[in-house]
Amino acid sequence: MRTPLDVLAAAPGDQVFPLFVHAHPDDETLDTGALLGWLADRNVHVELLTCTRGEQGEVVEGVLPAGVTQADLVLVRQHELQCAKKLLGIREHDVLGTPPARAADLPARNYHDSGMRWFAEGLAGPADLADPMTLTAAPLTELVADLMALIERVHPTVLVTCDNAGSYGHPDHLRAREMTVAAARQAGLPVVEFASRDDAGGFEWFELPEQRSRVVDALRCYATQLTVHDDHVIHVGGQRGEIRLRVGLRRVPQS
Ligand SMILES: [Zn+2]
Repeated sequence: MRTPLDVLAAAPGDQVFPLFVHAHPDDETLDTGALLGWLADRNVHVELLTCTRGEQGEVVEGVLPAGVTQADLVLVRQHELQCAKKLLGIREHDVLGTPPARAADLPARNYHDSGMRWFAEGLAGPADLADPMTLTAAPLTELVADLMALIERVHPTVLVTCDNAGSYGHPDHLRAREMTVAAARQAGLPVVEFASRDDAGGFEWFELPEQRSRVVDALRCYATQLTVHDDHVIHVGGQRGEIRLRVGLRRVPQS
């Protein structure tokens, strides 16, 4: 029976060291929590890169005391990610723009969440933000140089990113994917993309129901962002999301 490792390995039986690239803290759990848990159960060493710190995010009402500053929120969101990482067995984590995920000749920087607004049910698009520090405002060459610095440091065998639907179309997800595909091409590494939707065609699907409690616990780490129910989550913006226990994977063709 085929497993996710068959898609992630360059050749059957090869050692696998995936670098997961996600735009925001919580995407790793929402989109790939079950896969990360499955890999942790098999002692597969995984590196996680998040591109932003999520400090622009809204906060679920009543979770934090009134008067919380943005600096406090950054700390809270770091703790949330820390909590999820522990549950999902992620030992190595870096943030884009901070060494070692920063091009050697450049000072460290924070890429800000670009924000989004809903165009239609389940489909996001760019927000009207004029912040020049956002992930989508940064030059692609700078982003790719940062990711290349990390690749050269940690030597992953495969990069993992979202498909070209960007999970639900968030501009940062699409940007993270664009950067990942470009860096992989430069580094000569394969890219595996995960399906944004359960009905996406052309993917190899893996059912991972045994990861349920682990994923639910990891989702609960993100109290400022998500309200977790038995079989779904409600995002801070009000939209509903599934608790994803199946993952669709495929190799991105190298061109
Ligand atoms: Zn996200």
